[in-house]
Amino acid sequence: MSQYVKTTALSINRYDYSETSQVVKFFSPELGAFNTLAKGAKRDKNTIGGPLDILHLYEITFIRKPSECLNILTGSEIINPFLPIRQDIEKFNASSRMLLLINELLPFHAKNSEVFELCLNALANICLGSKPQIDLLYFELHLLRLLGHIPQISSCVMCSEPLETQFARTNFSASSGGILCRACAGKIPEKLETPTGVFTFFDSMLNNRITKFDRIVLAGGLHPETRRILNYYFSYVIEKPVCNYA
Ligand SMILES: [Zn+2]
Repeated sequence: MSQYVKTTALSINRYDYSETSQVVKFFSPELGAFNTLAKGAKRDKNTIGGPLDILHLYEITFIRKPSECLNILTGSEIINPFLPIRQDIEKFNASSRMLLLINELLPFHAKNSEVFELCLNALANICLGSKPQIDLLYFELHLLRLLGHIPQISSCVMCSEPLETQFARTNFSASSGGILCRACAGKIPEKLETPTGVFTFFDSMLNNRITKFDRIVLAGGLHPETRRILNYYFSYVIEKPVCNYA
């Protein structure tokens, strides 16, 4: 049965449906991720506030359809276009990656107000701040935590030996789900070695508010290593069937 719905939602994906229409994927705190058909959104005169763009916060109204059909967008009003993000390529890259991860990891129709709040806070910080890469790292780690994918980084995933901070480098295994102590690393072929400081930094990010990192400067080489280990881990997580993420 069709039902009219009004909600605040972030546009996280969009593609053309025809010369004049679009399919827009939204993420709302009450409804999770869902697609809508914006009929005629690209016509000069339309009544639904189109054309719509990604990375905008909207107030939308739509007709909710059964899950096998596209919802029909009936109206949209921009609440926040996140303009500073569109004026800075580093900010845009960080925000685009956030949307990509939400698109990949968030199941359709799974309500998750905490992820929504995390996402809006991260976008606000990227708009106002000057360290989009730090905002992105914080978002990524807390996204993993909220969706139940956070790896074990404070102790060995095999034997629970605490992170060996006396050593400069530590092994991490995505398939094993966390770090490996020196004794266990030899038993696991699938792993990546990285500076131990990456994991102490991740642990700090997971246990503090973003404001703690306002003035942080990552020591030389540490930032590419944080990226390398997260890219490796996200690649592993995203390749799993989507149904495993619910
Ligand atoms: Zn171990």
